[in-house]
Amino acid sequence: MARDIVIWPHKVLNSPTKPVTDFGPSLQKLLEEMAESMKEAEGIGIAANQVGESLRVALVSREDGTSFEIVNPRLLEKKEPVSLEEGCLSVPREWEKCPRFHKVKVRFQDRAGEWHELEAEGRLAHILQHEIDHLDGHVFVEHLSSLKRTLILDRMKKYQKAKVRHEKREG
Ligand SMILES: [Zn+2]
Repeated sequence: MARDIVIWPHKVLNSPTKPVTDFGPSLQKLLEEMAESMKEAEGIGIAANQVGESLRVALVSREDGTSFEIVNPRLLEKKEPVSLEEGCLSVPREWEKCPRFHKVKVRFQDRAGEWHELEAEGRLAHILQHEIDHLDGHVFVEHLSSLKRTLILDRMKKYQKAKVRHEKREG
C-alpha cells in the first residue's frame, strides 16, 4: 500500500537515516510500499525517510519508467558542476535551480545486499544526488537562499493546513 509522503519541514527529513543491516522481509515490504508511494505521487525518486522510515534506502527511476533501489549508498565522485531545476515530493509544487554535478560515481547495495558501483550522468546523476541528500538528512531547499527558503516554508505551512482540512472533510 502507498504511504503518505512526509512534507517538509519535518524532523525525519532533516535527520541522517540509519544504515540498513537487515535485508529480510521488512526491507522488501518497505521497498514495495516506497514503489507504490512513488508511483501514486508521480515521482522519479523516493527516499525511505519521505515515507517516515529513517533507513538508508531510496528508489531511483530510470528513463524507461522502471526503477532500482539504492541501499546504503555512498557518493564516491562528483564532477562538472551544473545548476539544475529541481523539485521534491516532500516540497510540493516548488521548483528551483539547485547546484549539482553532471557526473557522479556511487556505490550501493541492492535489496539482496550485493554491492554495486555505478557511474551516472545527466538525469540519473541528478536523481542520485537528490536521493542521497535525503538519506543524509538534507532537502533541496537547503541549497537555496534564506529568502527563498522562508517563502517556501510559508507556502508549505499553508499547504499542510489545507491538506488537513481536506482530509477532515473526506473523513
Ligand atoms: Zn525529494
